[in-house]
Order: sequence, then C-alpha cells, then structure tokens
Amino acid sequence: MMNKEEVLERFLSYISIDTESDASSPTTPSTDKQWDLARKLHQELIDMGMSDVTIDEHAYVMATLPSNVDHEVPTIGFISHFDTTPDYTGKNIKPQIIENYDGGDIPLKGSDLILSPDYFESLKNYIGQTIITTDGTTLLAADDKAGITEIMTAVKYLIDHPEIKHGAIKVGFTPDEEIGRGAHKFDVEKFGADWAYTMDGSQVGELEYENFNAAGAVVTFHGKIVHPGYAKGKMINSMYVASEFIESLPKLETPEHTEDYQGFFHLHNMKGSVEKTELHYIIRDHDKEHFEARKEMLLKLVSDLNEQYDREAVSIEINDQYYNMREKVEPVMHIVDVAEKAMKELGITPLIKPIRGGTDGSQLSYMGLPCPNIFAGGHNFHGPYEYVPLESIVKATEVIVKIAELVAQPE
Ligand SMILES: [Zn+2]
Repeated sequence: MMNKEEVLERFLSYISIDTESDASSPTTPSTDKQWDLARKLHQELIDMGMSDVTIDEHAYVMATLPSNVDHEVPTIGFISHFDTTPDYTGKNIKPQIIENYDGGDIPLKGSDLILSPDYFESLKNYIGQTIITTDGTTLLAADDKAGITEIMTAVKYLIDHPEIKHGAIKVGFTPDEEIGRGAHKFDVEKFGADWAYTMDGSQVGELEYENFNAAGAVVTFHGKIVHPGYAKGKMINSMYVASEFIESLPKLETPEHTEDYQGFFHLHNMKGSVEKTELHYIIRDHDKEHFEARKEMLLKLVSDLNEQYDREAVSIEINDQYYNMREKVEPVMHIVDVAEKAMKELGITPLIKPIRGGTDGSQLSYMGLPCPNIFAGGHNFHGPYEYVPLESIVKATEVIVKIAELVAQPE
C-alpha cells in the first residue's frame, strides 16, 4: 500500500535536523533550531496541497485536509512533536539501515555499543524487517519523528488517493514535548478538531488513554547550626529530619517496586547540609483519589514533624503537573474504539494499557481536545539504543488512514 522507500526517505530527512529542546530556556520553542524542522514541515504541507497551513510565533505547525464527502463527519486530528529529548544528543545522527534483519546482534558502528536481542528482546519481533538504528553516538529521534513521518505520509497518501473517503483531517506538530511543554501553547480552538490522537507511542499496537495523575513536591528542612563541640541539646541537623521523612514513606511505593496501575513516590533529588536540606519528589497515581491521598500523606508528615520539633522545621510545596486523561476520554470512548477497530482491520493486535507517565494528549484532553496516544513504532527512546523498524512506521501510517476512513463511514 505505502511506498516504503518514500517513507524511509522522509524519516531520514527529518532526523537529519537537530531539534533538541532545553528545559532551562523560558522561550517557546525552547531552542531556535526547532524552527528549522517546523519551517520545513510548514513548507512541505503547503507543497503537498494541504489547506490552512499555518506556523505561529511559537513554531506550532497546523494544517487541514478538507473532507471529501458530502455528509457530516467529525473532524479529527493527528499530533506529534518535532523536538528531541535533552537527555541525549540528536545532532549529526548517522543512522544504520539493516535490511532483512536476521535476529542477531547489531553493532552500532560509531561506538562500542551493541544492540542485542539478548538484552532488547523486542528486536526478536522484527526478524526479516528493515531496522533503523543509530551508530551509537546519538539518539535516533524516532521519538517523535516517526510520528511526524506517519502523519505526513498519511495525509499525502489521502491526497493521492481521493477514492478513500474521509472527513476533515487536522494535522498538528508541536515543539518542546520532551520538556513537558508541548501542549502549553497549543491553540485547541484554532486546531478545530472534535478529537485527536498523538502518534507518540512505542511498539506496534499500542493504544493508550490512561496516564498518571502527576505532581511534584519540594520538601525543605530547616536545621539549627551550632558549633559541634557545644551542640548538645541545641543543634538540629536538617539532614536527620529529612531522613526521618524519607523513612516514614511507604518503602515499596517507589518506581522500582511498582508496575501497571500502582502509584508511587519518587525521590529524584536531594541536597543537604546541617542548616538546610531539600528533597525533590514526584508523585504519580492513575487513581484520582489515591493521588490526592498521596499528597495528603506528605502534608500530614510535614505537620507531624513540625509538631515533634515544636517549630517550623519543615515546609513543603506541591504542584500538580498533569492529570489522567481517562476522565476526559471515557465519556467519548468511541474515539478509542475506532482506533482499535482500525488496528484490527489491519491485522494489528491492539495493546491497550495504562501509560506510566504522561503525554501531550493528557494535557490536551484537559484543554478540551480528547487525545489518546497511538504507537509510532520506535523502541528504547532517549538514548543510543533507540531503533525503529521501517515496517512499524508504515503500519502506523496505515492506522491513520484507516481511522480517517472509518470515521467517515456512516454507521
Ligand atoms: Zn515522544
């Protein structure tokens, strides 16, 4: 159906542009180089004949493929992000293309690294396929340039095949997803879709509409510093108070002890001296009530410690980060059902599971655009072992086309 060579060429052209985002920058996009790919996409959308092609002052790119049917059809959208994570460099990506993969080790030739199916078992699913890897010195940027490739290829395909009937299709490309700001300046009203999908999942079949509720907490402990030789009954060592706090949290409710729907407290940073210690936590839970209870538990611990030390020894600041999109998607479950149906019609087994993280779609869902997440095909994101089978990119492209087709079919 799709021309694989064309898909490959498109993907390689996108990953050749460095678009690393930067959490420390206050601007949107956070880095100027993201404009390079944003402008390229903008031009390509114009060249392929899309309507209402826009790029705004924050580099968000949007376009419309008008409906080609007479009856009323919901408007749907497809979204992906063009930035790459600051965790690993995406500059000068030198991809390796392994055709007809034999199931063995893949040396990443610019380094000593080996992409081995003994360790990365998912590779075994792709024997006989075309695997695109890094050379070991960069990430691959399949996250999320695979998603961009899929959306661009799908709308091009629909333009070239007017016999496929579809409603209006919106396309949106965003900066800064990797630093948690992809949805922040997304103009939902201008986008104008009834619902959308992010093409930003991993393996073939993934379909996600549940994610964590998320908050961050900074707990600050104030000690009392006195000369150690004369400290008896006077010194309060903030690090010991902090360690009491750590010890009081449930030991097994941490990322390394939880899976599926289990929530956690994650201490990801601490710095301390006698006078002052800071603990940085993230709090995650799929269940809204449990999520609230976790925050309550932290507040209670703080007030208990303050009582025990008879002073303002501990202070805490908690900020909500994002919420479980399930609440916004469940009332419109048909948007998940149609994606599931599209996969099944293409012979793909849907893998519906809760995300242990968040997506741009969770924020967009709360901004009024229900937005589940669909696989984009890549594996081992954010590092040199990242890879994507070309066939998976093609499959995701076919899913987009099929959803467009199904949504336009009268019941
Ligand atoms: Zn991504």
